[in-house]
Amino acid sequence: MKILLATSEVYPYSKTGGLADMLSALAKTLARQGHEVGVVTPLYGSILKKYPEIKKMDWVLELPLDWHQIQGGVYTLEVDKGLTYYFIEQEEFFNRPGIYQHNGLDYPDNPERFIFFSKAVAHLAQFLPWKPDLVHVHDWQTALVPLLLKHAQGLGLLSRPIPTCLTIHNLVYQGVFPAKIFALTNLPWGYFNPSGSEFYGNFNFLKSGIVFADRLTTVSPGYAKEIMSAEYGANLNGVLSQRVNALTGILNGADYEVWNTSDNPALEQPYSIKNVATGKARNKELLQQTMGLTRNPRIPLFANVGRMADQKGMDIMIPALEDMLAGDIQFVCLGNGSTRYEASTRELQSRFPHKVGLFIGYDSELAHQITAGSDFFLMPSRYEPCGLNQMYSLRYGTLPIVRATGGLMDTVVDPNESSTQANGFKFSAYTSQNLARTMIRAQSVYYSATTLKNMRKNAMQADFSWEQTARRYEEVYKAALGGAGLVGKESA
Ligand code: ADP
Repeated sequence: MKILLATSEVYPYSKTGGLADMLSALAKTLARQGHEVGVVTPLYGSILKKYPEIKKMDWVLELPLDWHQIQGGVYTLEVDKGLTYYFIEQEEFFNRPGIYQHNGLDYPDNPERFIFFSKAVAHLAQFLPWKPDLVHVHDWQTALVPLLLKHAQGLGLLSRPIPTCLTIHNLVYQGVFPAKIFALTNLPWGYFNPSGSEFYGNFNFLKSGIVFADRLTTVSPGYAKEIMSAEYGANLNGVLSQRVNALTGILNGADYEVWNTSDNPALEQPYSIKNVATGKARNKELLQQTMGLTRNPRIPLFANVGRMADQKGMDIMIPALEDMLAGDIQFVCLGNGSTRYEASTRELQSRFPHKVGLFIGYDSELAHQITAGSDFFLMPSRYEPCGLNQMYSLRYGTLPIVRATGGLMDTVVDPNESSTQANGFKFSAYTSQNLARTMIRAQSVYYSATTLKNMRKNAMQADFSWEQTARRYEEVYKAALGGAGLVGKESA
C-alpha cells in the first residue's frame, strides 16, 4: 500500500507529546512491513539547522486562504527504504520557536497555520508522483484534509479517489474557532452546518474530520468506548455515535528502539531484566544526585513526567503527595504547561527540598533518566486516550500507578486483578485519597523484595511493540480503500 501520513508533530523533528512518538513509530514500522510511506509535517524553526540533510524540492506551493494566495515550499528527506518525509515550509507560519504556542499562549493564527498546512497535505496527496492510495491524518490540526479531498473529488478534480483515515489522539483538543474562519478554507458554506463542520455556531476542525473521514481510529480500545459517553465525549459523543461503525480503537505501541534500558545514550548505567535490581539502584542513585535529593537507596522514589495539564490529574496528585511526603518517600517531577500546576509543584519542592526534585521545562534525556531511576511512575490521569509514559515505565521496570481509564486501563495489571501477572497499580475513583492509598499499596510492595522483583519482571516483559499495532492500521486502511465513498452510509 502507498500511505501518506500527515501530522503537526513527529519525533525527532518536532514533539510536544505522544502524537510525535506515535507518528514516527507508525511510519517506520509500516515502511519496514513493505509499504510505501510518506510523512507530511511542517518545517518548524530549528529543523533545518539540526537536520541539514533535509533538501529543498523544486516544488512551489501557492494555496489560497480566503482571497490571499500563500506561498510555501516542500523539503524532503528519505529516511529509510520506503519512508520519505515531506516538510512544508512557510516562513511566517512555521518558522517560530513553538509548535502551537509561546509562553503558554496559543498562537492566535493557529487556524490559518493549520488550514494552510491541511491544504498543503491535500495538494501533496493529489500531486506526489508516487500517488498515495490513502491519507491518514491525526488530530484537529489535519482533520480538514478529508473534507478538502472529498470536496475536490466531488468536483471531479482528483485523478483517483483518495480515501482518508483520521486518528483521534485526544478528543478534547478540537480546534474550535469562530465561524468567520471557515472562509479561509475556500470551501462552499454549504459544509458549514450541523451535519458538517459547524458546531454550535463555531467552526470545529476535529468534527469536520469525524464527519468526512472514511475511517476513524482512536489510540486504545478503552478510549474508543469511553468517548461514546457524555463524560468523556467532549460534546462530540453524539457525532461520534453516528460513526460508531467506522471507528476502531487501536492501542499505540512503544518504540523500543528509542525507549529501552540496554542501549540508550541517555543512560549512564544500562541495565536489562537480568540485572534490574542493581541497574535500577545505580540509576536511582544518579537521579537522586542530579535532582538534589537525599541519596538513599531505601527510600521509594515516585516520579512524574509529562504535560502539566488538567487531563493529567495534577489536581489530585499534588494533595496526595502533600500527605505522602510527610512519610519516607521521594518525588521527582519533569514537566511544563499550566502556570497553576507549575506553581503548585514549585511550592511542593520548596516545602520538601530534599524529598522533591523538580525540573520545569522539556528535557528528553532527563525523561529517560527519571523513568530509569525511579521506582514508581505516577499517572493519575482524569482521562488518557492511550498514554505512552506508562508503557515506557513498564519497559524500564518502573511500576506505573495509574487511574483506570482509557489506555491506562488497557495496559496496566493490578495485583488485585492478577497476583501473578501484576505489573503496576490501578485505582478508579478520581480522588487524591484514592491515589494516596494506592501509593501506600505500592510502598508496601517496595519493601517486599520478592513481590517487587516479580512485578518488575512482569513489567519489563510486557510487550507493546509496534508490529502488531501497525498491522491493525493496515486492516483499517484496507477497509478505507474498500469502502471509499461509504462515508455517512455505515450508520444509515
Ligand atoms: P501526551 O501525548 O498526552 O502528552 P503520552 O504519555 O502519550 O502523553 O506521551 C508523552 C510523551 O511526551 C512521552 O514521550 C514523554 O516522555 C514526553 N514528554 C512530555 N512532557 C515532557 C517533558 N517536559 N520533557 C520531556 N519529555 C516530555
